[in-house]
Amino acid sequence: MSDKKEQLKAVILLVGILLVGVVILNGCKKKSEPAVPTETTEVASEAIEQTTCPVMAGAINESLFTEYKGKKVYFCCPGCKEEFEKEPEKYISQLPQFEN
Ligand SMILES: [Zn+2]
Repeated sequence: MSDKKEQLKAVILLVGILLVGVVILNGCKKKSEPAVPTETTEVASEAIEQTTCPVMAGAINESLFTEYKGKKVYFCCPGCKEEFEKEPEKYISQLPQFEN
């Protein structure tokens, strides 16, 4: 008779562990949803005014840039960076950071 009680305890424990596991997994899923990058994602040190590549007008890649006259110029692809470096004056009119 005590055997049955022990079995029942074991089953209850197992179900409990499973439930906790499910709750933890669901909690993780819910947490990861708002972590999708939104417009609140900002570069803390310096804001990038530029949003498009001056050469091809594609969306900039923030890890692809060169410095011109002390300002960072971003590009969509390495080819555009090369083009800009050949004739920067041709493209700076497209750049908000050189407006003044
Ligand atoms: Zn490009």
